[in-house]
Amino acid sequence: MNERQKSPETIAVTAGRPEHSPDASLNPPIQLTSTFVAGGPLAYGRYGNETWSAFEEAISQLEGGRSLAFSSGMAAISAVFNMLPIGSVVTASDQGYSGTMTLLKQSHESGRLEVRFVNVSDTEAVLAAIPGTQLLWLESPTNPCLEVADLPKIISAAKSANIGVAVDNTFATPLNQNPLAMGADIVMNSATKFLSGHSDVLMGTLSTKDEALFARLEAQRKLGGAVPGPMEAWLALRGLRTFAIRVQRGSESALEIAKRLSVHPKVAKVRYPGLPTDPQHQRAKSFMRGFGAVLSFEIKGGAVEAEKVCESSKLIMHATSLGGVESLWERRRRWPAESPVVPESLIRLSVGIENVEELWQDIESALNSI
Ligand SMILES: *Cc1c(COP(=O)(O)O)cnc(C)c1O
Repeated sequence: MNERQKSPETIAVTAGRPEHSPDASLNPPIQLTSTFVAGGPLAYGRYGNETWSAFEEAISQLEGGRSLAFSSGMAAISAVFNMLPIGSVVTASDQGYSGTMTLLKQSHESGRLEVRFVNVSDTEAVLAAIPGTQLLWLESPTNPCLEVADLPKIISAAKSANIGVAVDNTFATPLNQNPLAMGADIVMNSATKFLSGHSDVLMGTLSTKDEALFARLEAQRKLGGAVPGPMEAWLALRGLRTFAIRVQRGSESALEIAKRLSVHPKVAKVRYPGLPTDPQHQRAKSFMRGFGAVLSFEIKGGAVEAEKVCESSKLIMHATSLGGVESLWERRRRWPAESPVVPESLIRLSVGIENVEELWQDIESALNSI
């Protein structure tokens, strides 16, 4: 079977295995070495590693482009921005992952880049902002407001204007959308989240179909030095084996919880693109295969009440991050770096693979604490 015809569920299980031969190991080794005997393509531990290659092969098949592993999602994002000449114009979402937002704001303030911030769910605003831009940085759905950008339309408009496009695919994951197939130049994933899935490793990836761009990104990794450890790459690949089934289960539960929250008397608003009443549901449905396992909701009340809810759960952990087997929630504005467009009472919930009725009981009793 042609690798590209396989489904993501199958790729997650089969990709990055050693060649089949008698007594071959089913899994790649954890290659613990900082250097290699001269004469081969790897040469040095900052340039390559057998364990990274196995993980990268799996991501390449899932995203449909050649991939590079980095020491974190932010390391991967930094490699993309560092590739741009000083003074380059970047158009980016005005609310998205707070680390990316802070990095872009700092780059703008220092004069390293000129950044235009737009609301990515407003297609006309994005199209109006991009003339003269070198790179359009998209995130969809966005963290933490779950805004959906019209990726097929925006990417094709940017590409016809010869603008580079990169998409942060962390929330959707390659199970639900493939930005490279829509024409994006680069897709980025925080492998820390759903791809590795067990909250035990930090890693990031970049994928591209463009060989010349791949070489430039690889040079950024070599010289920037933000390389993953072999242990982390092995853990990420180990976690990836169950990636599809984890995301499917989390998404089913997220939809059920979003439905129940949206009629709960203590909840003011729910954001989840899979919810039929979500303002961006139709758009999301037109190009996403599924809607992911993260949702956000605003409670009736302010910061104090939202903190109380997060502190009152017994099953859901009060912690930052997302994409693990265990459900996590937090009030996003507890972080000073979070965008002021995010409401004070907004709670982001990453839905894990626990029993959905037990999750709901926990949510209801936490809501009853206010
Ligand atoms: C977590 C996250 C990142 C950053 O990834 P790290 O692995 O934490 O560096 C980037 N984008 C999104 C959408 C994220 O959720």
